[in-house]
Amino acid sequence: MINIILFGPPGSGKGTQSVKISKKYNLSHLSTGDIFRMNIKNKTDLGKKAIFYINKGNLVPDDITLAMLKNEFNSFKNTNGFIFDGFPRTIFQANNLDEFLKSKNTKVSSVISLEVDEIELTRRLLLRGVNSKRDDDRDKDVIKNRIQVYKKETFILKNYYDSKEILSEVNGIGSIDEIFKNISDKLDLIIE
Ligand code: AMP
Repeated sequence: MINIILFGPPGSGKGTQSVKISKKYNLSHLSTGDIFRMNIKNKTDLGKKAIFYINKGNLVPDDITLAMLKNEFNSFKNTNGFIFDGFPRTIFQANNLDEFLKSKNTKVSSVISLEVDEIELTRRLLLRGVNSKRDDDRDKDVIKNRIQVYKKETFILKNYYDSKEILSEVNGIGSIDEIFKNISDKLDLIIE
């Protein structure tokens, strides 16, 4: 089983690139943000809990996120592997993912980090906000908070995976196809 984490700040293009990666390498796409949004839309209990955090640009608590992620993971049968998009976002989640995958006799195969500077991120998020149906894309303060939360809680995961020697940085600025080519060049080395 191949398990790829697509890592990067909000607005770095994880969602767009994950869809392409999942198609090319036949991996199941697990986007925690998408799953939360679907639950909010369907007004589930999980959605009712998550909306409170998401609309402020804060992280949904680890226990809620992990329970949901494991549940989703277990619902895929006979998969080649996963592309994790927007997860993990805290050291606690990363540790927990390692333990969970170990219990399934598998592990994180590779982490691709999309590198985009803060000025470009804010520009993209505000642009996305013009057309986006996402409330958390439309409010400047919420966008600012999401970037702050990334810096405070999530950025450190680069060190976590770098120390395991499974992290590759990819320039996240350029055309969608150029960025995808650079990601594919890395993944082709580990996926047949
Ligand atoms: P995203 O679509 O990945 O930008 O996620 C949108 C929002 O969902 C985030 O701002 C968080 O509030 C929440 N979220 C998504 N993934 C996670 C996660 N792994 N841990 C905690 N909250 C998350």
